[in-house]
Amino acid sequence: MTRMVLLGPPGAGKGTQGQMLAERLGIPQIATGDILRAAVKEGSELGAKAKSYMDAGDLVPDEIMVGIIRDRLQEADAQEGYILDGFPRTVAQAEALDDMLEAIGQKLDHVVHIDVDSEVLVERLSGRLICRDCGASYHTRFSPPAKDRVCDKCGGELFQREDDQEETVRSRLAVFEERTQPLVEYYRQQGIYRQIDGDRDPETVRDEILQAIQGK
Ligand code: AMP
Repeated sequence: MTRMVLLGPPGAGKGTQGQMLAERLGIPQIATGDILRAAVKEGSELGAKAKSYMDAGDLVPDEIMVGIIRDRLQEADAQEGYILDGFPRTVAQAEALDDMLEAIGQKLDHVVHIDVDSEVLVERLSGRLICRDCGASYHTRFSPPAKDRVCDKCGGELFQREDDQEETVRSRLAVFEERTQPLVEYYRQQGIYRQIDGDRDPETVRDEILQAIQGK
């Protein structure tokens, strides 16, 4: 049973690590960005509310995000643990999550901060390609797919996220510094915070995260 949070700026590798760790640990990856993008694509009420914030690289309001997580954590597959990717992103979200868990006698086990220098992040994000079907992540230069714009894993179409344009990337990084960075102190005080150097190949980062959370 592992309930963990992956913390880190956009482009740090939360999605990639979340996916690899979920496979390894047999628990779901819950990525709020993916949930929101699916809602936008579906044209649901949630999608309509979230879209303008996402396009601008701003955070979607806390009440909306807390509601999404409250529902998602009640689903059957989340009862044996989960990896939160992209939530919480503000102290208010972290407090709401703690309250939610406390009410049912649970708590977070680990918060892993994947740390990467901001210039590296801009480079990573501006070349990033994502699979529309399975969410796998590629990079035009660093990890290109075998076939142009086609996912190696599932054959789905690869696309560039709208918010991965350089200007939006810079605002997302600024938002991280201002709104999400304070979570480092929040979780450090709880004694569950670990920082990992994310500027290495994905398998090395994954193994270090596993070591950190399994105490080996
Ligand atoms: P991500 O895929 O995690 O980079 O998220 C993409 C966008 O979705 C973010 O830039 C925000 O606009 C929104 N978003 C995702 N998760 C959250 C969250 N926990 N709080 C607020 N906004 C979020």
